[in-house]
Amino acid sequence: MPFQPPRHPATINTVEIDGMARTLFRPMGADGVYARTAAYETVIEKLAQLISSYRDPEAEILRFPPVMSRHQLEKSGYLKSFPNLLGCVCALHGSEAEINGAVARHDAGGDWTTSLTPADLVLSPAACYPVYPIAAERGPVPEAGYVFDIAADVFRHEPSKEIDRFQSFRMREYVCIGSPDQVASFRNRWMERATTIADLLEVPYQMEQASDPFFGRMGQMKAVAQLQAALKFELLIPVRSNEKQTACMSFNYHKEHFGTVWDMKLASGELAHSGCVAFGMDRLAVALFAVHGLDTAKWPDGVRNALSL
Ligand code: 5GP
Ligand code: ZN
Repeated sequence: MPFQPPRHPATINTVEIDGMARTLFRPMGADGVYARTAAYETVIEKLAQLISSYRDPEAEILRFPPVMSRHQLEKSGYLKSFPNLLGCVCALHGSEAEINGAVARHDAGGDWTTSLTPADLVLSPAACYPVYPIAAERGPVPEAGYVFDIAADVFRHEPSKEIDRFQSFRMREYVCIGSPDQVASFRNRWMERATTIADLLEVPYQMEQASDPFFGRMGQMKAVAQLQAALKFELLIPVRSNEKQTACMSFNYHKEHFGTVWDMKLASGELAHSGCVAFGMDRLAVALFAVHGLDTAKWPDGVRNALSL
């Protein structure tokens, strides 16, 4: 008998979550890295279409690969905030003899990885980092501002057995670059649209002010400042429990951070501001299965209609 989660996710327990993971995913030998089944991928695709249907008409669509320039991420200040989450691409850069030496060490039961050195790429930890240098290169931001529709597979080094924490997951984002007013109205508009989407999906949710998991003791101060300035909101859905709800979308205001980093200005000469709304596609899909059950044919009609299932 296939596992059927209860309609009220507050009562979901670990055994049920394990059953859900077994049905939706196949193990790949590492926590938080999973092969996805057809039923799960169909929901991801339909969710992406639903999110696209709310896209601002002027949005420019870009899709990014799962890696980005290490230099660009360093310049963005990522290491100051989340060095613990970053994954860096490494490769065997030596001569043929040195590379053969590493392989021979492995063949002899030794460690080939001691010969690795960093490449000029990192695994993207969020979808939007590469978009700011692309926009900045075009010169002053146009009067109407920019809206981008972007997506990437992202990586965060936080292995976990929990079904709502992956190391590798899909992130879809809308990004606004412009004046503080343009970014504020973009974020408000999207917080409203996001609740419309959550209503259509018939999931219980709360919109809350939030802070990022900044690294270390200094990070706690950054988190407090972020809360005080209301720079981040999250749409939370009870996936594992009611007490510890799961952030499935985030609404972020970066102020002039990326404007400063990339010397990106408005026509007036003022620094450009930016903000982004991020949809955790895998978390949203997992949330739908947790709330409505594993058989999409039995999902409520309203949800099936919204997703064209
Ligand atoms: P943020 O940049 O706000 O931390 O993340 C943006 C969105 O990505 C979150 O709202 C969430 O939906 C998703 N996300 C963040 N961390 C994880 C994770 O560990 N696993 C999964 N599946 N999604 C995540
Ligand atoms: Zn972003």
